[in-house]
Amino acid sequence: MSNTKYIFVTGGVTSSLGKGIIAASLAKLLQAQNFKVTIQKFDPYINVDPGTLNPYEHGECFVTDDGAETDLDLGHYERFLNVNTSQANNVTTGRVYQSVIEKERRGAFLGKTVQVIPHITNEIKERMRLLGETDQYDIVITEIGGTVGDIESLPYIESVRQMIWDLGRENAIVIHLTLIPFLAAAGELKTKPTQHSVKTLMESGISADIIVCRTEHELSEDLRQKLALFCNVKREAIIQSIDVETIYDVPLKMLEEGLDRVVLDKLQLKPKQALNFKPWNEFLTKFKNPKHTVKIGLVGKYVELQDSYKSILESLIHAGAVNETEIEVVSIHSEELSQQNVVDTLAPLQGLIVAPGFGERGIEGKIIAVAHARESKLPFLGICLGMQMAVIEYARNNAGLKEANSAEMDPACKAPVIDLMESQKSVINKGGTMRLGAWDCSLTADSLAEKAYGTNMISERHRHRYEFNNDFSDQIFDEDFVVSGINPETGLVEIIEYKNHPWFVGVQFHPEYKSTVSKPHPLFLAFVKASLVKKGKA
Ligand code: GLN
Repeated sequence: MSNTKYIFVTGGVTSSLGKGIIAASLAKLLQAQNFKVTIQKFDPYINVDPGTLNPYEHGECFVTDDGAETDLDLGHYERFLNVNTSQANNVTTGRVYQSVIEKERRGAFLGKTVQVIPHITNEIKERMRLLGETDQYDIVITEIGGTVGDIESLPYIESVRQMIWDLGRENAIVIHLTLIPFLAAAGELKTKPTQHSVKTLMESGISADIIVCRTEHELSEDLRQKLALFCNVKREAIIQSIDVETIYDVPLKMLEEGLDRVVLDKLQLKPKQALNFKPWNEFLTKFKNPKHTVKIGLVGKYVELQDSYKSILESLIHAGAVNETEIEVVSIHSEELSQQNVVDTLAPLQGLIVAPGFGERGIEGKIIAVAHARESKLPFLGICLGMQMAVIEYARNNAGLKEANSAEMDPACKAPVIDLMESQKSVINKGGTMRLGAWDCSLTADSLAEKAYGTNMISERHRHRYEFNNDFSDQIFDEDFVVSGINPETGLVEIIEYKNHPWFVGVQFHPEYKSTVSKPHPLFLAFVKASLVKKGKA
């Protein structure tokens, strides 16, 4: 049996309290004391993965090296910890049921009635222990999505109860994250919703070990005592999580509150080394004391919802900090861009990103934006669909292919410069069938990409069905518009560049999935640098 310790993070009162950030912050504190930590998330919805969910429903879909389409919280885990996650780090109810039903069909439970308890809970528990049993981790943090008391969360909560029973309280603890609302009319913070949610947890046989309280105002000593008494925990196990200006402040706030100390104490562990937070603090200092500002436009169709482009926004923060530059992101709705307003809309910018996306809505606006960035020498980064739009724009406006389009937008198009890969043509199911995960790419010597990466072979994560159609290579690529990255095995185009320009790069992959606090992504770094040059600051 492995010696791995388990921490479960549940949520009470409301959703969206930031369990993922608390989990990632705690993991960071433990990692800084030399513990090997990973985080996994269990989501109580029936989709097998979030890949088929609209970003408006669930924010961005984060993709791992092994090609799993996962919850955006895994992005936070990777960005905070600089540790790769995988399919095993994100489990949904759909995946659990799918696996149990497949086992039933194979006859794995022959003669038995298959039930939520024990079959579904056993499957959940197996998956909760999967990473721990690899012996790679000292501590596995498991975030339970949803809110305690939800019908759909019940099998997870029951599984947590059984895990604690199986492993013992010194090996498995529960952190419950709740909200302490402030009633403006009464001028008071209220503890009652927390008391109720802790009680709901107790009805399922779980007593929380630590309560993390989200709050807009400081919790007084009296209030902390009261919470401790009614929630049945020690005073030091009441942890305040006050609103902060950036998520990157949360680990330090948790350190001030002693969350790591209480956790280690409960798990009967001693720090493996004195906490080393120097690199994190250096990042924060640079991030908070920028010397320059640049305005970067982000053209997309889901711009109303910040979470849709989470990883891109975070990558800009990482790259901005290194360049000591505050990045002011200007969200531009692709459907609202037209020939009439593009000049005025993009005029204040020093850089432009055209975002990934699916479907036809807003693509003409994206093409107009690319054309303007190319012609006006505005630093440009096209990501996935953004790269595809850059190809279409050049094909239409420079290569004489007026009808150029993506077969995704116009399946009958006469010049499908972006087309479905052969291997995709027979694919019927939508879930988990795109080109996903890490693929190698070799870079052309002296290209912007090679200069940015400082190497000629890279690996980046993908999530798309369509590709550049190599039948059009000769017609589209010329001295100015070039391929600078190619998949060495398949010959698929991965990166395009426009040379008659300070910095114009389109990538078929998603660099944003690999940027972390300690390893900002080279392309974002180079793009931000180019924007500083545009501003005359570098
Ligand atoms: N819709 C495009 C494709 O499937 C681009 C996908 C993306 O931007 N992630 O190829």
